Amino acid sequence: MKLRRFDTSKIKVRSSDGKSRIPGGPGGIGIGTLVLAAIAYFVFGADPMQTITAIEGSQQTASGQAQQDNLSEEQVCNQGPYAVEACNALQSLNETWQPEFARVGMRFEQPVLDLFRGGQVSTQGCGSATSAAGPFYCPADMGIYIDTGFYDQLAQMTGEAGDFARLYVIAHEYGHHIQNLTGLAEQVRSAQQQNPASANELQVRMELQADCYAGVWAGKNRSLIEPGDLQEGMRAASAIGDDTLQRSAGQRINPEGFTHGSSAQRMAALNAGLESADDAVCDRYFA
Ligand SMILES: [Zn+2]
Repeated sequence: MKLRRFDTSKIKVRSSDGKSRIPGGPGGIGIGTLVLAAIAYFVFGADPMQTITAIEGSQQTASGQAQQDNLSEEQVCNQGPYAVEACNALQSLNETWQPEFARVGMRFEQPVLDLFRGGQVSTQGCGSATSAAGPFYCPADMGIYIDTGFYDQLAQMTGEAGDFARLYVIAHEYGHHIQNLTGLAEQVRSAQQQNPASANELQVRMELQADCYAGVWAGKNRSLIEPGDLQEGMRAASAIGDDTLQRSAGQRINPEGFTHGSSAQRMAALNAGLESADDAVCDRYFA
């Protein structure tokens, strides 16, 4: 997509430094850990777009604050091409979604993008997570957490390094932010607690709605879409469907174990948002 260059006065970004976060632990996360993380990813089918809702008991530092690199927002966004692209996307997402909230008189708040490094991050509101969990959204601190190393994994999984696959990832996590602001995430959490048997299905619906919101963002910015973008997005949606992940992990396809939806469901959700460019279409997952 031909996104405009970011302006740090219009976005919230930071970079947590995972390496200094483990008291008494190893001084860093090496290649071996990353390889293990990749293996764990395929073996367990851990999803790259997990919303962390279950991680409790935060392992914060003594100050009660996640440690952060002393990088300015400008420096965080200029760490490399992936960071620039993510900051560009974040601003576009803010500019696309803020007016939608204004239109219905709902309070809007920007999420903060944390481009963390070092394989592990200690969030302010959701405890610790490793890169193996993939990009995630933490409702408690409104943070979108992405280890930019994930983008290399994504390129391997989808067999290409197209920008739209990466943009789809951040737009999907932004979709979870929307669910947080609208109160849907909270409703789903309490429904899951009341009826644990439905927890998995509700989780899938939430993930598909986040895919749909990602599509709405792209649909509302159709003029910026370049040839090949949509195919990249569809290939990414297909590559990270639960059935495809299960198959590549050598497992039998087990819909009960789906947490994000099948490849076909994810592609359909992204496409529904894209074609309509209307977020009301994404209500269908909870209608
Ligand atoms: Zn998700």
